[in-house]
Amino acid sequence: MTQPPSADLLNHLADLLGPKGFTRDPDDMAPWLTDWRGRYRGQAAAMLSPANRDEVAAVVRLCAAEQVAIVPQGGNSGMVGGATPDATGNQLLLSLRRMNRIRDIDVAAGLAIVEAGVVLEHLHGAALAHGLRFPLTLGGKGSATVGGLVSTNAGGTQVLRFGTMRALVEGVEAVLPDGELLDALAPLKKDNRGYDLRHLFCGAEGTIGVVTAATLRLVPAAAARCTAWIGLASPDDALRLLRRLDAALGRTLEGFELIPDACLQAVLRHIPQTRAPLAASDPWYALVELAGDDGDALTEALESSLAKALEDGLIRDVAIAKSESESEQFWRLRDSISEAERAEGPALQHDVSVPVDRMPQFIAENPARLDAAFPGTRVLSFGHLGDGNVHHHVQPPMGVDGRAWLAAHGEDASRIVYTHVLELGGSISAEHGIGQMKRDMLAELDSPARLAALRAVKDGLDPLGLFNPGKLVAQKAPLA
Ligand SMILES: Cc1cc2nc3c(=O)[nH]c(=O)nc-3n(C[C@H](O)[C@H](O)[C@H](O)COP(=O)(O)OP(=O)(O)OC[C@H]3O[C@@H](n4cnc5c(N)ncnc54)[C@H](O)[C@@H]3O)c2cc1C
Repeated sequence: MTQPPSADLLNHLADLLGPKGFTRDPDDMAPWLTDWRGRYRGQAAAMLSPANRDEVAAVVRLCAAEQVAIVPQGGNSGMVGGATPDATGNQLLLSLRRMNRIRDIDVAAGLAIVEAGVVLEHLHGAALAHGLRFPLTLGGKGSATVGGLVSTNAGGTQVLRFGTMRALVEGVEAVLPDGELLDALAPLKKDNRGYDLRHLFCGAEGTIGVVTAATLRLVPAAAARCTAWIGLASPDDALRLLRRLDAALGRTLEGFELIPDACLQAVLRHIPQTRAPLAASDPWYALVELAGDDGDALTEALESSLAKALEDGLIRDVAIAKSESESEQFWRLRDSISEAERAEGPALQHDVSVPVDRMPQFIAENPARLDAAFPGTRVLSFGHLGDGNVHHHVQPPMGVDGRAWLAAHGEDASRIVYTHVLELGGSISAEHGIGQMKRDMLAELDSPARLAALRAVKDGLDPLGLFNPGKLVAQKAPLA
């Protein structure tokens, strides 16, 4: 069982971290005690913001001695309440945002050693200044930090070619729950000393320690990109188009995002200075991006594939961006969906994956299952079709009190979604993780073998249950 921090411990921490690294001021802490979607509100005994890994290790040792719980936090852009402390006010919020140094960029090796608090957009800029690119991006790039990206094994819009965070993490430095520093930053191509500890931290959601830095793979900056906004009749056609482009364009194909018209309309309603790329509406769109060294060759290749697709009736219309700023505008429409949807009102968010070929079936059939149980629900599925991952959001029926509906029926509606996903061989969390939002559903629906293995890892590394209690796996019952 964890304990509230004693006055002595709080004094020690305040002395250790100084005024920049320690606060109990409710106004300073308030923005960090609620998650991005405003779904979870917590309390903290203090917010700690260490400046370096030694301070993190000292904090963890002091907390372990008193069995005080720690909730690591980066940019607080996570979607499952993973970085929000509980309501007791006994936990300590450990913010990594002050640790925002890029320690090294090795241009020849294509590697960066980056502290946990570095914001993704900053990393993009720093890599670009060296002619390199960190090939992972997502809508929350202005807030999300390297520590959070590692800890959620984030995905985003370029996974198709470069994989999720796990594929880009070449090394990790972390403070373990007893305060020991694990230095696994060396980018070893071969290392067979048992379990892959680097990758254990990818997706660990702050439950087995604090990531203080990571070695990340960079790739050469693409000299050019070619972006197209394509009108389609259905997700089935989108999948056929994806397969065709994949075969024709190979490794230049970096992004393939599926967007229903309802999402585009929400963005146009709520996000200033946005406009539809095509003159007429289509039921679905694909946002496709190629990247490479020769812009003309990319455009030619994409134009010829899409001309053939138009001729075959596979796509209904297309706009190819004529400039970098037009590409940006297309991506802004995609990246603003979460914000626009938040402005539309409450919805149940599911971030799910199934094998790519089964995704159209899931998108087509799941709304009927929901409607049978809850008539009038509206479903939006958008996102990373190329990765077999969509954000599958269920809006309450029109005219009801959305929050009350979610409170009364949300869990049952989610169960319908997740059961269907599992029937199709998928996962109830493709990118955002489990956090507190999906913890109970994971415990209810996942296989006993997987749950036991997760529990064993957690208990083995954090036997006192000090790290992010109540997230990912349920808290261990106290010994009788
Ligand atoms: C508009 C928008 C779009 C998004 N799109 C995507 C998307 O396409 N794909 C995707 O994968 N995600 C997406 N996200 C979710 C979010 O950006 C990612 O989950 C991101 O990785 C969270 O980073 P963060 O620094 O904000 O972490 P936080 O939200 O602060 O924390 C997330 C989790 O990581 C833990 N954690 C944070 N830092 C550390 C650390 N240093 N050590 C140990 N544990 C730590 C926390 O305890 C928590 O469990 C989006 C978010 C927004 C707001």
